[in-house]
Amino acid sequence: MKVYIDGKFYDEQDAKISVFDHGLLYGDGIFEGIRAYNGRVFKLKEHVERLYYSAKAILLTIPFTRAEVMAAVLETCRVNNVRDGYIRLIVTRGVGTLGLNPNRCKQPSIIVIAGKIQLYPEEMYKNGMEIVTVATTRNLVNAVNPAIKSLNYLNNILAKIEANIAGVEEAIMLNSDGFVAECTGDNIFMVKGKQLLTPPLSAGALYGITRGVVMDLGRDAGLQVGEPNLTRYDFFNADECFLTGTGAELIPVVKIDGRQIGTGQPGGVTHDLIERYQSLTKSTGEPI
Ligand code: PMP
Repeated sequence: MKVYIDGKFYDEQDAKISVFDHGLLYGDGIFEGIRAYNGRVFKLKEHVERLYYSAKAILLTIPFTRAEVMAAVLETCRVNNVRDGYIRLIVTRGVGTLGLNPNRCKQPSIIVIAGKIQLYPEEMYKNGMEIVTVATTRNLVNAVNPAIKSLNYLNNILAKIEANIAGVEEAIMLNSDGFVAECTGDNIFMVKGKQLLTPPLSAGALYGITRGVVMDLGRDAGLQVGEPNLTRYDFFNADECFLTGTGAELIPVVKIDGRQIGTGQPGGVTHDLIERYQSLTKSTGEPI
């Protein structure tokens, strides 16, 4: 594997950044997880746009244009012969001193890794997954806004550890008001009648690219798509529930905190949205 760092490609074992990079010292940086299907990078523009939004929020100037970042992603796929895969795009604050001050970091670093991902076992896509709610609250919007896809993922990792201890793969995180925010690495949706609902960004959810695509697909399918504040009670009594993410795609949820959701099997709306999503990923994207 060849890894792109600041305009050059390095063999995997030589792909290194400084221990003084604030990305390592403080988690000061941002990233994107992107997917390639069938020789095209899916929603590349949207991912790069979100990267720039995250950069704006942390006052980091990416030393490339959006077009150059897109070109670097596509080039990394070409160099590695990736036609179907997972791409990690990272911008770190860069090398600085042992103090927090980001102004001491002269030049951000940009890294692109193109590889593979399998987040959850195939069986869960077929039969649905069980999730639990964990005690770790999602970061406050006013502290580290979950909309910023930052290199500091400890909030999510603490929740993931709780999921692991409970013996499940994913977990619901609530915000400090008790509303459902999202999962540790995925957005969450519920279906109730003709309604397709997902928590609003103000509840502490990431502006998921898959979330946005699925909301559009839901509208195409004639569903009423909404973003109200949702509680665990709403999810317990949903007809269907599923998670979305670039890595996860759409995965059905059939049990939450011991409560069976709907029939206990992946539902018809979920199946329909999965099919619509797959046909979109197969046929659209920036050609590699
Ligand atoms: N929420 C969190 C916390 C995430 O890390 C991710 C990405 N893995 C998502 C939601 C899903 O976002 P996207 O659809 O853009 O991958």
